[in-house]
Amino acid sequence: MKYSPKEVKDINEKFNFNFKKKFGQNFIIDENIINKIVDKSNIDSKSLVVEIGPGGGSLTNKLSLTAKNVLCYEIDEQLKPILEEQFKNKTNVDVIYQDFLKANLAKDIEKYSYEKLYVIANLPYYITTPIIIKLIESKVCIDKIIVMVQKEVGERFSASIGSKNYGSLTVFLNYYFNISKIANVSRHVFIPVPNVDSVVVLFEPKSNLIKARNEDHFFELVRKSFRQKRKTLKNNLREYDLEIVEKVLEKRGESLNTRAEALPLDFYVELSNELSD
Ligand code: SAM
Repeated sequence: MKYSPKEVKDINEKFNFNFKKKFGQNFIIDENIINKIVDKSNIDSKSLVVEIGPGGGSLTNKLSLTAKNVLCYEIDEQLKPILEEQFKNKTNVDVIYQDFLKANLAKDIEKYSYEKLYVIANLPYYITTPIIIKLIESKVCIDKIIVMVQKEVGERFSASIGSKNYGSLTVFLNYYFNISKIANVSRHVFIPVPNVDSVVVLFEPKSNLIKARNEDHFFELVRKSFRQKRKTLKNNLREYDLEIVEKVLEKRGESLNTRAEALPLDFYVELSNELSD
């Protein structure tokens, strides 16, 4: 695929393709952004890349030039003729026409041999968080995730403690990953132009993961701690043993009047371990 709006329009007309808002279709038309995403990933000829939502295939094409294999999931079968034309001479690009949220990633990648696995995508904005959660729950060992997401969502992923964007999602994702923003992206590099700007976010699995003894308990505790953001932990954690909560808080010089947004990941892991003993 070429990258000027006119060329994208011509291809869409040739294949009778209409952008679908319900699938979050905003295609990149700026090759510099594509290059930046691929350069930051450090993929090489031994890498398998999973791309969710190849769209017209512009990012896919660039990935296929370096990676050993690119496995894509695309929900919109109307893109099939465009992608088939684009990759008819490539043997290292496979597209599964399926909702990624229903896919069996672990099974689908079994047939590939690779040294490192990357997930690289310009994500459909309406399901950004479910996709990240699906990747975690798939239990597949992923070396890096690089995704373009709405700016506001990306800022929640990588928010620092005490900031307005720091919430249960931040703690949840930081349990698994070191998360950093690697680029700001203007809305004007997409066609059609979305209402918001984007960011590219890098997720690197933590090698020194501090494990919660009971992960279900930990996630529930984090969710409840942030239930009403303006309220103190005393209010949000009423159903737990508040004496234990207070003891763990005091070790950090905090009290039951502290709010959830002021506390780091390791506090929640420690508290969950104490409460679920
Ligand atoms: N990668 C292309 C690009 O950057 O130009 C397209 C990105 S566009 C933001 C998101 C893509 O995800 C679209 O092609 C859309 O059809 C696809 N998509 C939306 N929901 C999906 C789902 N549940 N599973 C797989 N693909 C999906």
